[in-house]
Amino acid sequence: MSIFSVILKRLEPRVPAALLGDPDTRQRSLLAIGCAYSFAAVSLSLVPFMGSTAEGLLRLIPMVNTAASAALLLLTGPLLRRTRSLRVAGNWMTGLLFAGLTFALFSGGMVSAPFWGAMIVLPLLATVLAGRGSGVAWGVAVCATYMLVYALDRSGVTPTDLTPPGMRDQMTVLGAVASTVVVTIVVILADATHRDAIQKMQRTHDQLEDAIVERERAQLQAHEAVAANAAKSAFLATMSHELRTPLNAIIGYTELLIDDAAGSPDAARREELEDLRRIRGAGEHLLNLISDVLDISRIEASRMDMSPETFDLGALLEEVVALLEPLAEKRHNQLRARIAGALPRVHLDRARVRQVLVNVVGNALKFTERGEVVLSARRRAEPPGVTIEITDTGIGIPADKLEQIFQPFTQVDPSRTREYEGTGLGLAICRRLLEMMSGTITARSRVGEGSAFTIELPTAIAAPAVLTTPTRAAS
Ligand code: ADP
Repeated sequence: MSIFSVILKRLEPRVPAALLGDPDTRQRSLLAIGCAYSFAAVSLSLVPFMGSTAEGLLRLIPMVNTAASAALLLLTGPLLRRTRSLRVAGNWMTGLLFAGLTFALFSGGMVSAPFWGAMIVLPLLATVLAGRGSGVAWGVAVCATYMLVYALDRSGVTPTDLTPPGMRDQMTVLGAVASTVVVTIVVILADATHRDAIQKMQRTHDQLEDAIVERERAQLQAHEAVAANAAKSAFLATMSHELRTPLNAIIGYTELLIDDAAGSPDAARREELEDLRRIRGAGEHLLNLISDVLDISRIEASRMDMSPETFDLGALLEEVVALLEPLAEKRHNQLRARIAGALPRVHLDRARVRQVLVNVVGNALKFTERGEVVLSARRRAEPPGVTIEITDTGIGIPADKLEQIFQPFTQVDPSRTREYEGTGLGLAICRRLLEMMSGTITARSRVGEGSAFTIELPTAIAAPAVLTTPTRAAS
């Protein structure tokens, strides 16, 4: 780390944070603060020499003038912090030096004053600190001052020359040295801040490149994940299909054995009946789970198609109630259908609407005991469709779980799963199937009081009949 980097690091806290963001204002702010300190130091070092530019008490005038300039230069930092304007700070510094040097010209013998040439530094300083406009303005001001001094000198209007005759050469050399020092400081600080700005930009550029590489890697991983998800869904779809065939055979043969055993005069065979029914029950349960996995996999792999047909929705609702009546009785529930007026004929995938209703009403009966489940439906005018509501007086769902239950494999309380059975896939499948038919499903509930599921169905399926929204992984 070079000495200038160290100096700039020290100066940085003195620059207002608002000016540090942009590389250009950061560079010029550091330059302004650096110049202010350096010029103040140069001015202070000149104070003893200024004593020799006059005689007697008069020598106090250039000394106080130089010391006051140094003090006022040190105000540049606070001024920059207060105004946050480089133009103000740059012109403040240039103006101070201009005032000091004009005084030196007028009190030092006008055209022959020792500091005559020092003003040429001012346009350079104004440009690097406050911008090109200020540089031009100060260039004009300096030229005008030189011409004024010359004109006054020629017309004989010359204020008292404070410089003692013997000191003129010394003061001329001092003026040349001080001007050179100031220019050197400005140029070196400008170079240092410029390099610092380039380094900073290089670092930002490197970070940006790293970020781009990182983003590309993340995109690649996302593509791989999508491809892997599609492959997994395709695998699950195929596997589920392959499992269903032998499972159907097992259930079918068990049915035959049950029929045989039930009709057999052999008491030993009839005793097997209960075991055979258990095998059939377990087989059917497994078949349902596999059907759910097959459905969600097909949906995830965008391989689920809708087969719309025109049908009577009211008749379908009654069919669902009749189908689930035994389940209602098993758990001592009252299952009622309340259909308000005539429902319209709809053009939807009948099997999928039936699947959704069986799932939601089935859940209501599953999570309710000795209660009431009501399936109500009414025609909706705008947009045209049907609103179906399934309410129960069961265990209810906590408010923070109401949305989660529509995610695959999500159950309110997984520990209850064994008590109630299920995979947590049913509602996720329902929501996606309804989305494919431009329908929706939402839930309201109170723990311990019951739940209400609202299904909004359109009268006709909207084309295209495939799911277009991205879905979540089924694992
Ligand atoms: P599952 O096969 O586990 O029933 P679902 O996706 O159909 O899967 O339901 C997800 C979870 O939502 C259920 O496990 C249950 O915790 C909760 N749930 C669904 N319907 C009801 C309801 N009517 N009353 C209480 N909880 C319900």
